[in-house]
Amino acid sequence: MPATLPSAAAQEIELLLPPEQAYDELARYEALLAAAGLRPGQADFVHLRKRSVDARGRQPLVRLRADIYRQAPPADLFGPWFRYPNVSQAQRTVLIVGAGPAGLFAALRAIELGIRPVVVERGKDVRTRRRDLAAINKEHVVNPDSNYCFGEGGAGTYSDGKLYTRATKRGDVQRILRLLVQHGATPDILVDAHPHIGTNKLPAVVAALRDSVREAGGQVLFETRVDDLLITENRLRGVVTTTGQELTADAVILATGHSARDIYELLHRRGVLIEAKPFALGVRVEHPQQLIDQAQYRRPDRGPLPAASYALVHQTQVDNEQRGVFSFCMCPGGFIVPAATAPGEVVVNGMSPSRRDSRFANSGIVAAVELADMDVRQHGALAGLRLQQQIEQRACQLAGNSQRAPAQLLGDFLKKKTSAQLLETSYQPGLVSVPMDEVLGAPLAERLRQGFANFGRKIPGYATNVAQIVGVESRTSSPVRIPRDRDTLEHPTLRGLFPCGEGAGYAGGIVSAAMDGERCAEAVRAAVGA
Ligand code: FAD
Repeated sequence: MPATLPSAAAQEIELLLPPEQAYDELARYEALLAAAGLRPGQADFVHLRKRSVDARGRQPLVRLRADIYRQAPPADLFGPWFRYPNVSQAQRTVLIVGAGPAGLFAALRAIELGIRPVVVERGKDVRTRRRDLAAINKEHVVNPDSNYCFGEGGAGTYSDGKLYTRATKRGDVQRILRLLVQHGATPDILVDAHPHIGTNKLPAVVAALRDSVREAGGQVLFETRVDDLLITENRLRGVVTTTGQELTADAVILATGHSARDIYELLHRRGVLIEAKPFALGVRVEHPQQLIDQAQYRRPDRGPLPAASYALVHQTQVDNEQRGVFSFCMCPGGFIVPAATAPGEVVVNGMSPSRRDSRFANSGIVAAVELADMDVRQHGALAGLRLQQQIEQRACQLAGNSQRAPAQLLGDFLKKKTSAQLLETSYQPGLVSVPMDEVLGAPLAERLRQGFANFGRKIPGYATNVAQIVGVESRTSSPVRIPRDRDTLEHPTLRGLFPCGEGAGYAGGIVSAAMDGERCAEAVRAAVGA
């Protein structure tokens, strides 16, 4: 339907098209022009602004929003949107611990604000890191400084690269997406309702972000783990690295992610205030992607449509305690990966390539873990971390002390029956049949059972033996919060410390961590000037 004219130059069109037409560039172009009452050649440029799949009707349709320009479109439509000043001689320096999305985006924002960033990362650069991932998958060897969570780009590099976030009030999502596009991500992420980069494309984007930091006069140090803090009279002056090197700066942004247990231990030991925090724990479920496609799209094959996803939630009740069970980080057409950060533990997570073309759909299915579920009396601020650790170690022991993961057919789990055989899996280190109740403990297993039973009523065939569950999905969010002032973002008792990103408890996912990194850089600028 023809719509209003948002500017003198552009005509805005919104249209629902069958998938075959929507994903064919020429057919889409002609349909959009026709909807605007134009013939081919009568428009200078058609700018696709939004694309989403509407699968609510009998047949899935694709909703498109586009601007049609009869004259040349504005130049800022195509970027570059960001230019960085050289800060090598800047008056102020900020130390950023961790080169995940929070740390890298903090560094780039610091540069924009005229502050020189020094990024300190325990892991290796994206390329060298890949060898350590192969060692986990093939030799079952976990390097505690270089794995699926640690290394350049953080947990976000060898991930799914889903860029959808609900934290839209915490920053400018579009700005983050444009920054990623300027560093090599597909411009489709500016258009799709559920944008996604893919694990095969992420390393190049991460490397380009690091190059921008270095080219602007910032520093990025790899294989440099922070082991201690330089504190003088309640002020953090800098950090000490594994090699004994002391690095000082005007402020420290701590963006070490939710798996840096040694950092939580260090803060605890040094008397820096941290708090236990609720998180979520469960398993990863793997289905044939075809089952999910057919359930969501109601057609024999998905054709040009993207691999279908789902988001499920159910309120459970066990021992009079209500807890939500929900799907987490669903990876259509993806792989289950080993995400442990130390030997002797088994942790799973999911990722997918940009085409999302594996035969498997996987998703975390997790239950909320509240403070009441942890032993806060014994472990204080580290109670959630200890619980997480205990379950991960048990998963490893029960599956034979390697990176093979405990697994059970979903139908068998619901009937509390040991699986005689498991299914083919995308999890490369391999699976071992283990009753998941033994891994998770009774209340958590019961909550997941109630959740799965409910999901089986929503998606036909979902809660059967065509699927298997793999344990454990335990690194959903941080089990610890590092407190900070709401306005200044500075730690309440240790001046100069700016807790940042997922590890501090202020983000969940790539985009929200990136936005938090930017906010912390702005907070540092407000605190120390430039
Ligand atoms: P992290 O990315 O965890 O980065 C922290 C960095 O700090 C790491 O590089 C680490 O090596 C470094 N570090 C830790 N301790 C020290 C130390 N002592 N000294 C120096 N450096 C240190 N999110 C999404 O939004 N979409 C997805 O599709 C998605 N898929 C995922 C798939 C997988 C397999 C995993 C593991 C995670 C996925 N996530 C996804 C989650 C996402 O990656 C995180 O939310 C995000 O990376 C958090 O960013 P961060 O910068 O706060 O922390």
